[in-house]
Amino acid sequence: MKKKYFIPLLITSILITLSFCTTAFFYNKKHIPSTSKEVPTMKNSKTLDKALESSSFLEKNTTKYQEIDYIDTNQFIEKINKLLDLEYSTHEINNIFKYINEKNIEKMLTMEKINVHNYYQVPNFEVDKISRYEKYQNIHNCSIEEAVIKVNIGLDHDFYTQIELSENVDEYTVLVNKYHSLENYEPSDLVSLSYSSNYKLREKAAEAFEKLVSAAKLDNVYIRPYSAYRSYETQKRIYNNYVKKDGQMLADTYSARPGHSEHQTGFAVDVWSEGYNEIRPNDANWLKENAPNFGFIIRYTEENMPITGYIEEPWHLRYLGEDIAKDVTEKNITYDEYYDLYIK
Ligand SMILES: [Zn+2]
Repeated sequence: MKKKYFIPLLITSILITLSFCTTAFFYNKKHIPSTSKEVPTMKNSKTLDKALESSSFLEKNTTKYQEIDYIDTNQFIEKINKLLDLEYSTHEINNIFKYINEKNIEKMLTMEKINVHNYYQVPNFEVDKISRYEKYQNIHNCSIEEAVIKVNIGLDHDFYTQIELSENVDEYTVLVNKYHSLENYEPSDLVSLSYSSNYKLREKAAEAFEKLVSAAKLDNVYIRPYSAYRSYETQKRIYNNYVKKDGQMLADTYSARPGHSEHQTGFAVDVWSEGYNEIRPNDANWLKENAPNFGFIIRYTEENMPITGYIEEPWHLRYLGEDIAKDVTEKNITYDEYYDLYIK
């Protein structure tokens, strides 16, 4: 061999040998169990132990059971089998049990596989609304968190088009809006306000309201109720009059349809400044700052209109109890959002 070829050939062969050795080294590291070639190592696995004890044990899933962290939940092995059948990976299954609530998991077992990883960090998602979330996100180009809350409220449909019954109508946390109706519900413990027996609220709300009025006086703010509890029939009359006067589209921005008014819960009261047919700006400011300390929120603000569907109503107070009223105000969100995130 000519001397001028020898050096390049030598270098090339060294390089080939080296790259072969490296590949072989990593290949071995990945694919051959470190202890012995013949007996594969069995991981210590509580899930596998439980599967072996269970009548639902499936031999084909033996190695998969080992990769799934044990969770103390109903029918754990049956759920794993079903999720594996639906072709969820063991990694996904671990996250499903870690992040997704039981109700959603139950529903997932009856559906085709979904892109579940999008929802691990969205605790208020509901598995049967996934196609609505995706549609909303595409139209509005928003985050998944926003799509979930907006769809949960119902905002992917027009107001008053998809109506559900309000739940827990006797609780002061009850949600009433353009998607939730009280129908002809009547509260049982209405009491008159001291200002006039024409105005009634539920006992707790009435007590809180009297305290609020007294505290306001100490700050030289004089307010009075001008509308409190309203029955379904009263609301119907009021709303129909507004529709006659302004047409339904406009009336809907400032008056609730019967069954959809917070006043029907007995937990809402409208206030005016004493001696005026309105709430004066100073008094409205006092309410904004102080009402939460007495358990009331200003339910309808200008910035919340896209969610509530109502124009600003600085006079409309909604009783939610001190803790929730303060929390809603601090978080600066609508009660509709708060309800979906923390109450439902
Ligand atoms: Zn009102």
